[in-house]
This record gives sequence, C-alpha cells and structure tokens, in this order.
Amino acid sequence: MYVYPKKYEVVVVGGGHAGTEAALATARMGLTTLLLTMNLDTIAQMSCNPAIGGLAKGHLAREIDALGGEMAKNTDMTGLQFRMLNLKKGPSVRAPRAQCDKKAYQFRLKWVCEQENNLDVKQGQASAILHKDGQVHGVETTFGIQYHSATVILTTGTFLRGLIHIGLNRQQGGRTGEESASGLSASLKSAGIELGRLKTGTPQRLNRKSIDFSKTSPQAGDEPVPFFSFWADDLFHVEHPHKSGTSNIRTAYPPGSILDRLPGQLPCYVTYTTEKTAQIIRANLDKSPLFSGVIQGIGPRYCPSIEDKIMRFPDKPRQQLFLEPEGIATEEIYVNGFSTSLPYEIQVEMVRSIVGCENAEIMRPAYAIEYDFAFPTQLLPSLETKACRNLYLAGQINGTSGYEEAGAQGLMAGINAARRVHAKEPVVLTRDQSYIGVLIDDLVTKGTTEPYRMFTSRAEYRLLLRQDNADMRLCDIGFDVGLLPPRNYRQFQNKRTRISEEIQRLTSSRVNGQILADILKRPEVTYRNLPSNNPCLTEDEINQVETEIKYAGYIQRQEVEIRKFKSLEQKPIPESFDYDKVLGLRTEARLKLTKIRPVTIGQASRISGVTPADLGLLMVWMKRLG
Ligand SMILES: Cc1cc2nc3c(=O)[nH]c(=O)nc-3n(C[C@H](O)[C@H](O)[C@H](O)COP(=O)(O)OP(=O)(O)OC[C@H]3O[C@@H](n4cnc5c(N)ncnc54)[C@H](O)[C@@H]3O)c2cc1C
Repeated sequence: MYVYPKKYEVVVVGGGHAGTEAALATARMGLTTLLLTMNLDTIAQMSCNPAIGGLAKGHLAREIDALGGEMAKNTDMTGLQFRMLNLKKGPSVRAPRAQCDKKAYQFRLKWVCEQENNLDVKQGQASAILHKDGQVHGVETTFGIQYHSATVILTTGTFLRGLIHIGLNRQQGGRTGEESASGLSASLKSAGIELGRLKTGTPQRLNRKSIDFSKTSPQAGDEPVPFFSFWADDLFHVEHPHKSGTSNIRTAYPPGSILDRLPGQLPCYVTYTTEKTAQIIRANLDKSPLFSGVIQGIGPRYCPSIEDKIMRFPDKPRQQLFLEPEGIATEEIYVNGFSTSLPYEIQVEMVRSIVGCENAEIMRPAYAIEYDFAFPTQLLPSLETKACRNLYLAGQINGTSGYEEAGAQGLMAGINAARRVHAKEPVVLTRDQSYIGVLIDDLVTKGTTEPYRMFTSRAEYRLLLRQDNADMRLCDIGFDVGLLPPRNYRQFQNKRTRISEEIQRLTSSRVNGQILADILKRPEVTYRNLPSNNPCLTEDEINQVETEIKYAGYIQRQEVEIRKFKSLEQKPIPESFDYDKVLGLRTEARLKLTKIRPVTIGQASRISGVTPADLGLLMVWMKRLG
C-alpha cells in the first residue's frame, strides 16, 4: 500500500459525463481535485449514441451551461449536426439536439480537463472508499495506491459489477471492450450504502460503406446552426480560428470546432424496419436474455429494445430508425432505435432486413449491460450520501440514464462538495427553477426502480423552465458559487438588461393608439414585423422577448402557483426530527419519512405514500416539538 503524498480536497472517481463536470466544477471553484478514472483514453466517452440534447435533455444541457459547466460548449465544438426540435410547437417543448463526433467529443473534454488548473487527471481503478466513523477520507485503487481527500465524488456509470449480454452469452465489462469495476460495490455496502441492479442497452454500429443510403431519407441540420452554449460566440471568438478572423493553427485542435473540417453539417438518415424484421425477432425471442429472464436488472421502459417494440406494438407494420454518423474520421454508423440483446447471428439477419441495410456489415454488435446502482433515496438533495459524510454520488450510479442527466448531477455534486470544503451551505436547485432541480428532487425523494430519464412531463412549471431562458434562471447562481466566469456573467447581465428594457418599451409604447405588446400577442405577429422594433437585439433575445410577451398570461399564472406552493415547499424539517414522536402518523408515512429524511415539507409532500393528512399532522407536531 502506498499513500500518495498530496492530499486533495476532492477526489472524483470516474471520468464519464458526471465525473468530468464534477471535477471541472471543483477545480474551477479553486479546490485541489483529482480525477481518477479507469482509462484515460475513455474520458467523456459516449457509451451509446454520440448525441447530446433532445427533449428535456437539451434543457438540462443548457442549464449546465448557464451554471458554468462544460457539456454544451463541448457539444458546440464537436457537433456534426445541430437541430432545434419542435420549432413549430410551444416554447416549453422546443429543445436543441446535436449529433457529435464521438472521438472529438471525448478528446476535447480530456484536453479541457488536462488544461484546468487545480485538476490532476490520473489513471487508476478505485477498489474501495476509505471511511471511518461515517465519514469518507479518500479512495484506494486496485494497485494499492491510496489518495486521501476531504471529499469523494463517485461517478462510476455502468461499470460497477457490469455484466454484458449478447444473446445468451455474457461477460464481465463496464462497456464492451472495457473491464468492469468489481471491488467498489462491496466497499460501498460496507459503508452502509444499499445497491440494486439495473440494465440498459445499445444498438449496432454499421459500416457506412455497406449501407445503401439512396433508399433512406436524409435529414439535414438546421441553418443557422442552433448552438447549445449561451457563450458559443465567445467560445468561437476565443477558440475558433475562422470566426475570430485569425488563423491560429496552434489553437485549432483540439478546441477548434469540428465543423471547420466539414463543408457543412452532416446529414442523418431516416429508415424503417420491415415485416421481415418482426418475423426474425418473433422467431428468436427465446434467445433474448431479456425475454428468457437471464437479465435480472430492470431496463428503461422509455428506451425499449427493438424486440420490446415489436412485441408491444404487433400491429405496427414498421418501426422508424435513424442512421447516424459517429464521426468524421470513422465509417461507423449508429442505428438509433434498434437496440437489442439478441445473439450476434440473429442481429446480422435483423440488420439486413432494414431498408437500405440489405448488405450492411456490423462493426460492433448491439448489447445489453447490467450494473449496480445505489438507491438514490439514500442521498441528501446535495447528492451527499446520508450514510457517509463527505461522500457524494452522481450520474448513472444514482439510477439515471443519459449523458445530460449524469452531467447535471456531476456539476451539482461538484458544487456541493466544494461548498462543503469551504464550510458553506449546499446549493439545492428547486423544481420551479430548473430541470436539474426536478431531476435531483425526483431521485432523492421518490427514488427509482428503473433507469431514470428526464422528460418535460416530469416538470410542473414547463413554461418557466424553457431551454431559451436557462441563463435567466441560473446564471446568477453559477456566478455566485464561483463557477460561471465573470466575462460570461457580464455578457449575461447585458443581455438581461436589453431584454427587460425591450419588454418595458413594448408594454409602455403605443403605435396608432395600440400598445406594442398587445400587437405582438396576436398569433400572426412576430417581433420582426412589429411596426417598431430594435434591430440590435440578437435572435436569442428576440425569442425571449416574444415568448415573455406572447405567453405572459400563462407565465404569470404559473408564477402565482409557485408563490403559493413556495411557502410550504421551503419550510425546513429539523435534521434530527423524531417521527416516532408524531402521534397518529400512519406507519407507512412514518417509515418512509424516517428512511428518506426529507429536508423540507415540500420534499416530504412528494414522497409516495405520504398523504396531505400526514403532512398536516407533521406540521402540527413540528410546531409542538419546537
Ligand atoms: C450499453 C449502454 C447503452 C446506453 N444507452 C443509453 C441510451 O440509450 N440513452 C441514454 O441516454 N443513455 C444511455 N446509456 C447511458 C449513458 O451512457 C450514461 O447514462 C452516461 O454515460 C452516464 O454517465 P456517467 O458519467 O454516470 O457514467 P459513464 O459515462 O459510464 O462513465 C463512468 C466512468 O467511470 C469510470 N469508472 C467506473 N468505475 C470506476 C472505478 N472504480 N475507478 C475509476 N474509474 C471508474 C469509467 O471508466 C468511466 O470513465 C447507455 C450506456 C451504455 C453502457
């Protein structure tokens, strides 16, 4: 055993999407940080589709950006195709989505981590957490190296006792081609953390040269490119050689945008399964580890395998699939919508039954993976474990699925670990403030028994939590905690001023006797065709002015609801409150409240099985017991 001589303030275990956000956050907040990960070459690897965003996930990525995180910037620099989904629908369900270059995404984020002051990046597999008297003080690796630290953030993704299934064959692994992490699960259990088992899956990667794209329909990216980051201009100005008008080869790679190396955005392709696909699947269901019961872990209902879809919708003649490029320096094509765990030989037949893929060659087979996760109700809203002080968990280890869900938790765990070191109160985002707040509140209050993915329907105040106003909601917090750089914060403040001045002008000025804001409220009127508008506003600012005015009635109604709800929501429950002293409390409520230990009445109200009557009783007794 060897104790590394440098004592860190934070050790982050795992360099995936949660781990990189966590490590960058703590380092940027001034803490000495170690990012310890099993393989340096897979930092920020996209295990599944190299795509960021989409409904609700795009909202999360924008919120990460507003707080000072890295995901949106990395997407902008490495995206191959960008779209704004649901442009024809209401503003609450519009969401950015980008197809990224898998290797570039991973490579740039590794580079960003390496450049960061205060951040050491090291290869090693944590096999145990070091803890004493209910408090963590470091980690130990499989090679017997101990790294001591004030706080530890675990972000181990799908790697804890990972078991990969292709048909009835199985082998250990955290992703195909990578070993699983075996020791850490036992160590977590010894620290009092209860683990469960979940599963997820990924489709095949096909060789581009073997696909007949003429039988499919191309889907182009949007122009102008709807970048993810609020600071995209700044990013390109600083780092982008073409847009800044200079040709600085030294900074062109890795930070230069991948679009520099392309004549334009790359298309994705829409195709379909056929009746033959369904026949092959039905005939071979007994060979699926999911249907034969070999897989014990629970999979995501919303991201079903192709065999699930065919069995659940037997009358649907075909299923839509997307053929998506994985990068500019590879021929690999991701078959979006075709995840399966059927045997390889059946996969070959299935793939060749897809329109345009009659001669397709599989480069990587589809597979399913089972892994250990920690029941997230064991966490405080700061993402610190209740069982072990100064130990934080973030990402897939908490039962979620998705890069954005992982990144959001990583960022918050990082912020809160840093605040613990500085002896400051944790930052807990609320449900009316952000999707990140909804995500973490759902996890720590309701828990999850299947991989949790964010949906817009999970948020009560969708009209307030739009992707376009994530900066308005969160930049103040990002700056206050010391994460959002002052330069970006100043840009944001200027934007906020321009928007509010313009709303003020529109609501107080008249043209031909009519208030401008009232004219803009008419469905056929846009900001640009108002009789008087400000040509200096950016597209983003115009969007916000339009939404705030056109939807003012709905927005105000949601704000009233929030105010009513807040008085109760934020009422704190003392940490040591003894639920056994609440006479008349139903046993189910008593057990759940004691287990979850909600920090506010609002959180208590969302625990399944806790009724309004229980809450009434609880509040009476909180007053009585002082
Ligand atoms: C097969 C598969 C299919 C998926 N399908 C989807 C999908 O369809 N949709 C979707 O949204 N998401 C999907 N995901 C999930 C998505 O990849 C994850 O949600 C996301 O990557 C989670 O991020 P994370 O940071 O929590 O973990 P990961 O990205 O898994 O990163 C974990 C990191 O921790 C490191 N690590 C693990 N244990 C240790 C240890 N003991 N010591 C040191 N380092 C360690 C690993 O090397 C890795 O770098 C899929 C994942 C897999 C594997």
